[in-house]
Amino acid sequence: MNLNEGRYQIGGVDALSMVEHYGAPVYVYDAATMKRQYKRMEKAFGKVKRLRINYACKALTNVNVLRLFRSWGSGLDTVSIQEVELGLRAGFDPHDILYTPNCVSMEEVNEAVEKGVRINIDNISILEQFGALHPSVPVCIRINPHIMAGGNSKISVGHIDSKFGISIHQVPHILKVVEALGLTVEGLHMHTGSDILDAEVFLQAVEILLRAAEDFPDLDYLDFGSGFKVPYKDGGISTNIEDLGSRLGDRFNAFCADYGRELELMFEPGKFLVSEAGTFLVRTNVVKTTPATVFAGVDSGLNHLIRPMFYDAYHHITNISNPAGKPRIYTVVGYICETDTFGINRKLSEVREGDILAMSNAGAYSFMMASNYNSRFRPAEVLVMDGQAHLIRRRETMEDLLGPQVELPQLSGAVKA
Ligand SMILES: *Cc1c(COP(=O)(O)O)cnc(C)c1O
Repeated sequence: MNLNEGRYQIGGVDALSMVEHYGAPVYVYDAATMKRQYKRMEKAFGKVKRLRINYACKALTNVNVLRLFRSWGSGLDTVSIQEVELGLRAGFDPHDILYTPNCVSMEEVNEAVEKGVRINIDNISILEQFGALHPSVPVCIRINPHIMAGGNSKISVGHIDSKFGISIHQVPHILKVVEALGLTVEGLHMHTGSDILDAEVFLQAVEILLRAAEDFPDLDYLDFGSGFKVPYKDGGISTNIEDLGSRLGDRFNAFCADYGRELELMFEPGKFLVSEAGTFLVRTNVVKTTPATVFAGVDSGLNHLIRPMFYDAYHHITNISNPAGKPRIYTVVGYICETDTFGINRKLSEVREGDILAMSNAGAYSFMMASNYNSRFRPAEVLVMDGQAHLIRRRETMEDLLGPQVELPQLSGAVKA
């Protein structure tokens, strides 16, 4: 979002005019920002001959966004059979989709095999069942290197008691299963969780995976997952991807030389690619002054953007209706009948009832975690591309709320007391 002659714009389109046109609350995504991040990542790992970026689509699965990533050459990282289907619908080649489920049924894994996507297995029991059923289908194995990255226990998935991946200590067991069933392991994978702040820690995990890779002779790729952090505040910390790319690139190339084959280097970023591209626009319904606090109450809540409440995530808030207004301190809250605070003691230019507030970094895990709690409709989504705004998800209606419900005829008439 940038200020141009006193008006805020997203991707060159006037933000307030989008609210007038599409209503509020609305998620707006800027295609140019996604592309910039994709290209930036490609460039950072430019030393590597075979690089593949698989967009981790659980961050934002609108089919138009998937198609944008496909047009830039991205593959897809998926965690459910439904994401696989969305990817196929968006036109991805099955081979460019990696399916990385956790604790799903064998039936779902079989469905993914039928669809021809690449399979990433993170559990020895599933590996045994998979090997017995599909001995000729190559697999990727998700290893847990037990490196703890990031500060939030909900999104750190590499620690020793994490449910993700097969422990690095169980590699001998994996090798036994692979040999007994004659499996081809084409890839090794790790994903240590969100928020890598320290390239050093990441490179330690990489070393662990590389050591394990020496024991697997049929590899075609190594997938180092994600965890790339983007800044949430001005001057906030982010992963230095250029530095990481340069160092990891050298290390990876040296490994390939030792291994005797040019392997493909894979990553699967979600947040890095789409977080900054998203802005969530909400309308201020009430300004409420109490002896202690001035609240700005908006037409949204944890039903639309749960990250501040669920992860203590910081989303920068801007009053885009009053850019020249005098700064004051507000606590921005939602309309849900539960505590749903978007931001405490934020400095905003004076907020008047009706003003539109913009929440930044709302591209990843934002709309995707929206619900119909309090029987509210989920927001609309708009994609800004080449200086034009396009509606990519219409606002919901009562039909969307009632559609899947089955109304029992015996309860449909007037019920007598
Ligand atoms: C969620 C997830 C990602 C993406 O993580 P980000 O922090 O959004 O980059 C990548 N790989 C796997 C297996 C995931 O579950």
